[in-house]
Amino acid sequence: MSYKKFEEKYTKLADVSYAIAVLNWDQETYIPQKGSEKRAQQIATLSGMAHKMATNKKLGKILKKLKKDDSLSEIEKKNVKLALKDFKISTKFSTEFVMKESKAISTAFQAWIKARKEDNFDIYIPALTEIVKIQREKAEILGYKEHPYNALMDQFEPGATVKEIDTLFADVKEKLTPFTEKIFAQAKPNNSFMFQHFPHQKQWDFGMNILEKIGFDFEAGRQDLSEHPFTTNFGAEDVRLTTRVNEENFYDMLWSCIHEGGHGLYEQGLKPDQYGMPCGSAISLGIHESQSRLYENNLGRSKAFWIANYGELQKIFPENLDNISLDEFYKGINMVEPSFIRTDADELTYHFHIMIRYEIEKKLIVGSIEVKDLKQIWNDAYKKYLKVDVTSDKVGVLQDVHWAHGGFGYFPTYSLGSFYAAQFFDQAKKDVPSLEKEIIDGDNSSLLKWLRENIHQHGKLYTAKEVCEKATGEPLNFKYFMDYVSIKYGEIYGK
Ligand code: ZN
Repeated sequence: MSYKKFEEKYTKLADVSYAIAVLNWDQETYIPQKGSEKRAQQIATLSGMAHKMATNKKLGKILKKLKKDDSLSEIEKKNVKLALKDFKISTKFSTEFVMKESKAISTAFQAWIKARKEDNFDIYIPALTEIVKIQREKAEILGYKEHPYNALMDQFEPGATVKEIDTLFADVKEKLTPFTEKIFAQAKPNNSFMFQHFPHQKQWDFGMNILEKIGFDFEAGRQDLSEHPFTTNFGAEDVRLTTRVNEENFYDMLWSCIHEGGHGLYEQGLKPDQYGMPCGSAISLGIHESQSRLYENNLGRSKAFWIANYGELQKIFPENLDNISLDEFYKGINMVEPSFIRTDADELTYHFHIMIRYEIEKKLIVGSIEVKDLKQIWNDAYKKYLKVDVTSDKVGVLQDVHWAHGGFGYFPTYSLGSFYAAQFFDQAKKDVPSLEKEIIDGDNSSLLKWLRENIHQHGKLYTAKEVCEKATGEPLNFKYFMDYVSIKYGEIYGK
């Protein structure tokens, strides 16, 4: 009886949370200019309601009672366990703390916008200092073993520890650094053909076609345009993707479309009968990102995928691509180049961008460095790992919004995503020996089926580590990423 009560309460909480998500989605896509002010108020009201429902004492009592109920199924037990964890976390923070944090975030966000506009990090220092102070407090309130940063990462990647992430980045330094340096020394392939004029409507149509080909269900979702591409959902049967189209840069639409498509496929693969329950939602940001990156990189930047799709692309854009062979196209979309901007980075150098942010965050949280010195620390790290001289704050320490939002502990999930993706894709190929041939024939359904069975359908029933072990027989291992890039880029760059 009380599991039913818990389910009822959680379903209502999900209704409110998804209603907030609808309003947020609309705000990023279709809202008319004058609608913004009331929209902020609408979202705040509903957020207050959701917070009340999530911290409702009755809910806490039901959960504590259910925790001792041995008659529950495995999935019910897991839902109770995770709901209780969330309940405990949301009741740990006082209203004063929540208000202090949200005020600091809006101040920091404004300061970040202004600092970027004036290309001056100094403007951001006081607000960011306050954010860091609050993050340290937050780690103490949340509680942790070994390292305060563990508490912050746990919000995005439950169970991840500094010890594990340090080991991964030690591998990045030791193995990826010399490999990338060898590539930097080689002649670069040409990718200038991606920066010609590609008309908006044709790009859009091609993107929609690709989404269909990778298995996105348009009866349970749609795609729209927004300034910054993202994926959101209002349950597994209504998943919203957004993309953007830049007529002078074909990369923008192409990669965001496939990347968000990968996120969307994950959401559509969750169990609809677990609506609103922990086992009806994604495991972690790292696993979420593994799905988007698997589609974007392991599939979307593979030769097999373009053997299937390049002919059609050439037909749509003959004036741009008629003289570009499949081989030139494939090499061009896989160009490796040191850069300032994380979001523009190729799949190799990307991880240096993340490692730099991770090292900085850890040190800020333990207090071994200070915000006022960040610009220098940032620029030195970029020189060391990416061999670039950062020319302005805007393309340097001010490029990401994450810190202004208080998102400390978030960045490592991007690298985790790529490393998990390589391991999953490797296993899918082993389990489905004809996978590559099917992809070449334009059939991506076996890949989706493998991901559905091994990852999507479980929701939070298993942890990230458990899912990885169940699907691939071992814990996350950097070796798979390194093998993947060594073979692929060794071939493209002639070793
Ligand atoms: Zn993503």
